[in-house]
Amino acid sequence: MAEHPDVLILGGGVIGLTTAWFLSEAGVHVEVVDKGDFGQQASWAGAGILSPASLEHAHTALDQLRAHSWDLFSSLSQKLREQTGIDNGFLICGGLELCTHAEEEPSDEWRGEGIAFEELSGDELHRRYPDLSPTLPRAYYLPEMAQLRNPRHLKALQAACAARSVSMRPSCAVHQLVRKGNRIESVDTDQGRLTAGRYLLAAGAWSETLLAPLGWRPGIRPVRGQITLLNTGTVGIRPLLLCGKRYLVPRGDGRVLVGSTEEEAGFDPRTTAAAIAELLHFAAALMPSLSGAAVERCWAGLRPGSPDGKPFLGAVPGIDNLFVAAGHFRAGIQLSPGTALVMKQLLLGEKLAIPLEDFRLDRPFGPPAHGK
Ligand SMILES: Cc1cc2nc3c(=O)[nH]c(=O)nc-3n(C[C@H](O)[C@H](O)[C@H](O)COP(=O)(O)OP(=O)(O)OC[C@H]3O[C@@H](n4cnc5c(N)ncnc54)[C@H](O)[C@@H]3O)c2cc1C
Repeated sequence: MAEHPDVLILGGGVIGLTTAWFLSEAGVHVEVVDKGDFGQQASWAGAGILSPASLEHAHTALDQLRAHSWDLFSSLSQKLREQTGIDNGFLICGGLELCTHAEEEPSDEWRGEGIAFEELSGDELHRRYPDLSPTLPRAYYLPEMAQLRNPRHLKALQAACAARSVSMRPSCAVHQLVRKGNRIESVDTDQGRLTAGRYLLAAGAWSETLLAPLGWRPGIRPVRGQITLLNTGTVGIRPLLLCGKRYLVPRGDGRVLVGSTEEEAGFDPRTTAAAIAELLHFAAALMPSLSGAAVERCWAGLRPGSPDGKPFLGAVPGIDNLFVAAGHFRAGIQLSPGTALVMKQLLLGEKLAIPLEDFRLDRPFGPPAHGK
């Protein structure tokens, strides 16, 4: 094995770890460093909602990234389970896109994307789900919507990386990338200077801090999301409930995750009384019986936002051996397998499954893309 890794990945969230695993499967010597423990930031905090997508109907590069990811999720989960014994909880549980007012239409951004759906009138909705608020006027049922348990998925990824001899350095904050001409020579970290053939920046919401001294400020910023976890004590699988940017994710074991806010609060990771009160109000308005559920835990995570909601994937212009995979905003779990696939292909000089033009660091920004 080479003394220095072929690829040094800066940031061990879902993006860094999944890419490390894909690269290691291809025989690449990879090292991942993280300023704290692996997978404890946005990737841990997320709700784990996975939307179905169809390659056949993918019109944009982002649709393709989503569709490749969706295609990979089931086999990825199975492989992780086989290799590590950890079940990431990937589950096709179905979802209901709801609206709360009669004049409002439920979101149907997925229409025309080849995704199965069923329109439910208010009567049909209440016949099937009598515990939902009787005032909900209608919904779409999406039978292929899925979820996974983020902490389990991250544990499985870490174990799978370790089993493939990926070097893992926790508590190793990167302070700066040291540039010499058109190459990164090394990175300065808490654990000294580290050197590799190529570097992949996957530091989520913190990525811009490391890019800025190199002259790149693409607009990756933290967008705080708060979540509260309820326990109903009632076991059973049921669909996700989606209502604009808010949602309920029933976990099957009686727990229901209620999310989420979208706040510009800098790098402040705290939960706030106002946001949690609002989430609890939302949950009880949708499903009145939740007023009696126990509040188990509240947390917040910092999503890596980008100006148009799309991630930055590709080479950093002007620097031959530096690559970036960051800015996945509300969909980083969902987009992680496709991201890992295409970053592996790029780093190994293989044919790309998805054109990366739309994800360039120096792209012009269009209107924000949607994300679940
Ligand atoms: C409340 C909430 C709900 C969400 N729900 C969903 C959902 O349902 N579905 C979905 O697909 N996505 C969801 N997301 C979004 C998703 O979680 C993120 O897009 C994704 O986790 C981003 O992954 P990442 O690896 O880029 O970032 P992170 O998970 O934040 O990982 C970045 C890593 O880099 C490390 N790092 C940072 N700076 C340095 C440094 N200087 N040196 C070394 N290491 C460093 C950090 O410690 C961290 O471990 C949600 C996010 C939140 C907050």
